[in-house]
Order: sequence, then C-alpha cells, then structure tokens
Amino acid sequence: MAVKDEQQSPLHILLFPFLAPGHLIPIADMAALFASRGVRCTILTTPVNAAIIRSAVDRANDAFRGTDCPTIDISVVPFPDVGLPPGVENGNALTSPADRLKFFQAVAELREPFDRFLADNHPDAVVSDSFFHWSTDAAAEHGVPRLGFLGSSMFAGSCNESTLRNNPLETAADDPDALVSLPGLPHRVELRRSQMMDPKKRPDHWALLESVNAADQKSFGEVFNSFHELEPDYVEHYQTTLGRRTWLVGPVALASKDMAGRGSTSARSPDDDSCLRWLDTKQPGSVVYVSFGTLIRFSPAELHELARGLDLSGKNFVWVLGRAGPDSSEWMPQGFADLITPRGDRGFIIRGWAPQMLILNHRALGGFVTHCGWNSTLESVSAGVPMVTWPRFADQFQNEKLIVEVLKVGVSIGAKDYGSGIENHDVIRGEVIAESIGKLMGNSEESDAIQRKAKDLGAEARSAVENGGSSYNDVGRLMDELMARRSSVKVGEDIIPTNDGL
Ligand code: UDP
Repeated sequence: MAVKDEQQSPLHILLFPFLAPGHLIPIADMAALFASRGVRCTILTTPVNAAIIRSAVDRANDAFRGTDCPTIDISVVPFPDVGLPPGVENGNALTSPADRLKFFQAVAELREPFDRFLADNHPDAVVSDSFFHWSTDAAAEHGVPRLGFLGSSMFAGSCNESTLRNNPLETAADDPDALVSLPGLPHRVELRRSQMMDPKKRPDHWALLESVNAADQKSFGEVFNSFHELEPDYVEHYQTTLGRRTWLVGPVALASKDMAGRGSTSARSPDDDSCLRWLDTKQPGSVVYVSFGTLIRFSPAELHELARGLDLSGKNFVWVLGRAGPDSSEWMPQGFADLITPRGDRGFIIRGWAPQMLILNHRALGGFVTHCGWNSTLESVSAGVPMVTWPRFADQFQNEKLIVEVLKVGVSIGAKDYGSGIENHDVIRGEVIAESIGKLMGNSEESDAIQRKAKDLGAEARSAVENGGSSYNDVGRLMDELMARRSSVKVGEDIIPTNDGL
C-alpha cells in the first residue's frame, strides 16, 4: 500500500479483552468510543465471550450506520480445548480450583490466535487486557504498539505499584487488624492486613501481578477507564513520579449505545422494563440499588443479614440477586417477601441481568450498595450516585479508599476480609447495613455533603467525555500519536521489535 493511502485509511486498533464480563463490557464501550472518533476497531475473543458484547457492538454499529464512523468487528476464535465443559469460557462460570487452572491454561493458549491476527492484519495498535501480560512481547515481535488496559482506577494502579515495589505486608504485624501503609502515594493510604492479598498465602497471584505490572510498564503505554478530574493526584503520580505513559479515556460507559442490554447475553427480559416502571413510581433519591457485579457470591447468612438491613433501612430498594446463589428458603427472613409484593411496595428483586446504567441514572436513585468493582464505581460516579462500599477482593478495597477517603462520595460498610469465595467473610449485621445506608441517604449534614459531592463529580464525569473535555482530548492525543507513528514508519522499513519507545 502506498504511504499516502496508508495515511488516509482510518487507524485500526485491535482490542483484546480478558474473559470476564467486567473486562469485556468496558472494552466493548471503548470500541464504541474509538469508532465514534473514526477508528476501525476489532475485538478478538471467543464465542461465549463474543455473545456478552454482541448487543453492545450491534447497537453501536446501528448508531454509526450512515456516518463516517467505521464498523466495529468481532473476530471470534475458538476457545482452546483444555478439558473445560462446553460453554465454560469465562471467569464467572468457574466453579472449582481445578477448572480455574484449566481456564488460565486456555488463556495462555490464546497467544496463538492473537499472534495470527497481528501477522495477518498489522493493526496500528493493540489495546490488550493487562492480564495477557505475554501480549507485550507478542505485540513487540510484530512491531505493533501495545496499550495495556487493567480496567481499574489510577488510584488502584498506584496502590498496586506501591505494594509490589515495597511488599509492606512482609514487615507488618501479624494481627489481621494491623494497619499497613502503602508508601510513596500522594495521600496516606492504609489498609488492614486482612484487607490485602497476602503474597505468602497466594504466591501465584502475586507472581501474576508482578508480570502484569512489568508488562504494562514495558508497553507503549496504558489506557485507563477514568478521567483526569476524578483522580488528578494519581494521574500526576503515575505519569510524573512513576514515569508511565497513560491516556485517560473514560468513563467509557457513557459512550455505550446499548444502555439497556449492555453485557447481557439474553434478549431484554420483561423484568428490565418492570423495574424501570417501578422506579418511575418512586420519589427522587428514595431508592437504594444493591448489586455486587458479576463474580461475587454471598453465603445464606450474609444474604439474610443484607435482607434484614434493607428492611431496617426503611428505604426503597432494587436488589440484583442474579440467577445463581442459594434458594430464598435458605436465607429470606420472615416478612421480607411482603416488601417485594405490590402491597408492601418497598423493594424490587432482579433475578437475572440488571440494566445497571439505566437504573443508576434513574432520578429515583439515591444510593448504590456496591462491591467497588471499578466499572460499577465509575458508572455510579458518572450518574452522580453516592455509594455504600462493600469490597471483597482484587482492587475493591483500594477503590473503597478512593471513594470514601479521597473523593468522599461514599460510606464504608466496614468489610474486613479479602477473599473471592463465600468462605471466610465476617457476616455484617443488618443493623450495620441499615445504618450505613442511613448515613448515605439520610438528611444529616454528612449525607448532604456526600450527595452534593457525588452530583458534582457526576457532572464532571459527563463533561470529561464531551467535545473539549479531558477524556475527549486524551482520546484525540492518543489517536494523533498513533497516526504520527504510522507516518514515521516508512513502508518497507524494518520495524524495531520492541514496545519500548515505539
Ligand atoms: N452489570 C450489569 N448488570 C448486572 C450486573 C453487572 O450491567 O446485573 C455490569 C455493570 O454495569 C458493570 C459490570 O457489569 O459494567 C461489572 O463490572 P464491575 O467492575 O463493577 O464488577 P466485576 O463483575 O468485574 O466484579
């Protein structure tokens, strides 16, 4: 292809998400965002995972029809045969440690179709999930700049970096309640020992985090689903103190053309509409939304106390229970069922997939009880909804610190135990849950301040993605850099096979 033609054709970016809904959903949103700026996007994934993002991609392509925006493609590759049951291709479908091992073997085998795509298509860049740490070398071999995407906040990225660099647990007291400081951050950040991933107990996990961090550091740069005004001190820290190249392009959910079906594998259920109609009947700010993302499971004892807490709070509630989980006979307190009948009219339970963006942006919403997954957190921020924070694992305890202590848009429920399973979590009493919701949605000065701050941040989030906003400009900066790089790589010239300084 002549240089001139090359320069005129749109940028082509390959997006390569990790196989879990919380990674696929923002990548599909990011593709819609980049496509709206004239970039040709291809998402590489396996059949079951393609189904999770299909409706988001179809809706975006429908919206762009007849415009200059290129179509988004999904390149579907077989899920590697590692002995998992058919259809088990996603982190949220794993039920045993043995399956988890096989799943990670399959993830490693995705290198082959990734390599093949790069060799056949020579995209201008790849946005690779950071968990595919091997994609840094693979991209470098093909001379393609790699942008790491961890799908977390810059705050959590900075906490991770500090933790990996200093391993503060090594010198901390053994007491699970001992406060452990993360050195070198713009704020004083302290977590309890029990809230941190212990490298001694999980050496494999620690090694994975080290590989991920090293691979992202070696990359062309990193993209974040965040915006400058949300965490400016951590943008400065990450870029200047740590010297890492980043672009903040979020909140990407605001680019979605599929607010209703985003992330759902099935057609919209009648529940979706009835939930929104139910919300229409409620006073502004009177409903608390309760959802813990796509991976977290609660024990019957925890569900029992949560139901009691919602009852005691006196607030209206929408609670996403999901399809999995124990039968209600194992946990539902006496009298609770009445609350969700038309007569009780206090609550709405969703047993499938919730249209979370529509719920959070409904005027009846007054608060969100969340596990602090980064997508949920940012969606809540962009809707101007304050949070009751109830973290369990991964970056969630770090995000809680950002929400409660730095941004001051939330109230902590007081979760203490790091862990992804249902075991080993202290049962939080209904009274504590009700009190936290009351602090968030009450009429006290504290509640007012939190609610006001949340509304202000929501407005800033929406401005960031508008024409001329900070994230809008960062997307432009990234595209300009990739285009300039394309022009500087002369046709036929050998490309140095490294991501360093590409
Ligand atoms: N989500 C949704 N409906 C549901 C459950 C989850 O739309 O019923 C979406 C939610 O809006 C978010 C994502 O799934 O975009 C969950 O990501 P998050 O990072 O919050 O949590 P994870 O599931 O990765 O722990």
